[in-house]
Amino acid sequence: MMNRLNPKSKSSKKDPKEPKPPKAKVEKVCSGCNKVRPIWKNKTVEGEKKSYCQTCAKKVDLESSKKKKVEARQKKANSISKLTEVLDKTFSLFIRLRDTDRNGNFTCCTCGEKKEWHQLNAGHFISRRFMGTRWDENNVHGQCSKCNVILSGEQFNYSLFMDATYGEGAAKRMHSKAQEVKKFTAEEIKELITYYQNEVREMVKSKSFQTPKV
Ligand SMILES: [Zn+2]
Ligand SMILES: [Zn+2]
Repeated sequence: MMNRLNPKSKSSKKDPKEPKPPKAKVEKVCSGCNKVRPIWKNKTVEGEKKSYCQTCAKKVDLESSKKKKVEARQKKANSISKLTEVLDKTFSLFIRLRDTDRNGNFTCCTCGEKKEWHQLNAGHFISRRFMGTRWDENNVHGQCSKCNVILSGEQFNYSLFMDATYGEGAAKRMHSKAQEVKKFTAEEIKELITYYQNEVREMVKSKSFQTPKV
């Protein structure tokens, strides 16, 4: 009654929709410990209204902040896997365009045969699962689908190609580079996507055949 008549009272000016913070003086059965305690915090958990004492409120807050952190971590991981997918596609297109001539013909890096664009894969010397060399331009080359898929990459011939192209020991050096643990951040992957998208756009201009859009 006093409050309602007192114009100085702050609570009377408050938005009626805004929930009032619970007064710790009110004693109730705590939803956490089931003891009658001064209630510190009211919280709706999965549509159910709950009241907590000070100790339980702290526990509940800690748990929900932990949960939020886990969710944020998962979200980040998801976005990195999405970005990785985009970069793989863009990078593959970059390699295939780099290794084809104006008319869409290429020479397979492992069998040496001259083939057409539609038979072209971006073949990794060191497998994609090694992050340190996954997007290394010297580790990925135009390879025919027969060598890349049916013949599982033709590792031996590929190492000969590596040494012939980049000098004696190149295959070994790439192999050592792949052993280094490399973790890309979302920002780094985004930068690479932008870089390769631009490269692809530039290269497409010099080709006279139909290429997939980036
Ligand atoms: Zn409690
Ligand atoms: Zn081949």
